Amino acid sequence: MNRTVYVNGEYLPETEAKVSIFDRGFLMADAVYEVTSVLGGKLIDFDGHIVRLQRSLDELEINNPYTREEWLNIHRELVQSNDLVDGGIYLQISRGAPNDRDFVWPDPEMTAPTVVLFTQSKPGLANSPSAQAGIKVISIEDIRWGRRDIKTVQLLYPSMGKMMAQKAGADDAWMVQDGHVTEGTSNNAYIVKDGSIITRALSNNILHGITRAAVLRFADEAQMKIEERNFTIEEAQQADEAFITSASAFVTPVVELDGQKISSGAPGSIVPRLREIYLEESMKTAI
Ligand code: PMP
Repeated sequence: MNRTVYVNGEYLPETEAKVSIFDRGFLMADAVYEVTSVLGGKLIDFDGHIVRLQRSLDELEINNPYTREEWLNIHRELVQSNDLVDGGIYLQISRGAPNDRDFVWPDPEMTAPTVVLFTQSKPGLANSPSAQAGIKVISIEDIRWGRRDIKTVQLLYPSMGKMMAQKAGADDAWMVQDGHVTEGTSNNAYIVKDGSIITRALSNNILHGITRAAVLRFADEAQMKIEERNFTIEEAQQADEAFITSASAFVTPVVELDGQKISSGAPGSIVPRLREIYLEESMKTAI
């Protein structure tokens, strides 16, 4: 691959893009990120991602180096220069690279944030095999820190969770805290029971998914019943349907949980319909 990527104001071939060894994203996971999906060369829910980015930066007192328009221009330039049709744009901002390693934050006047963006091409993203067949999920204990609402690059445990899932012959893991599902390793988690969509309420314990917000809004507009409350793995195993949402998986059915089939073990009717609505509606506002 020879992508054109963005680093601190420059568009460069990926092999020439460099970040300092003192970068706090590298040394301390002192960085936040966003992933915006691209379908047909257009950005899905761009404004949602930029609003959440601002919130993550505010929570960590990192300056946002660009305006919404500047971010949009960078995203569009990358789509264009890489001929990106379907896939996503990864954006990361760290607290920057002071001239040494120190737990104390550098003075933002002296150390500018490090900004990196790159594209990921995924042809046919909207028709992935997992959307048709559904995915298998295992449950693992949620041992992450207490500010999961901030989208930091501190992704070691979610990454370990994916490996645990792979070793168990599954696709992903749902994390469980005090007996209740928090979220998936890189997605929000839902069940459907008697026509009701059930998902954990927002708090510091989960990421406030941009796709979650959109899907709940569309579901509400379609007169579907929504319950924002905790649920257990046992309840999920007895559910009619289950699913995950994320910017890159959109709405994807979950058909097996800890080796137990959910209903027939095939995607039901509500989740594929929700996926259809989500894709249709978000394409209308794609830019
Ligand atoms: N939860 C976690 C832990 C995630 O990493 C993600 C994806 N980044 C999500 C939920 C879904 O968020 P979004 O819909 O904004 O992609």
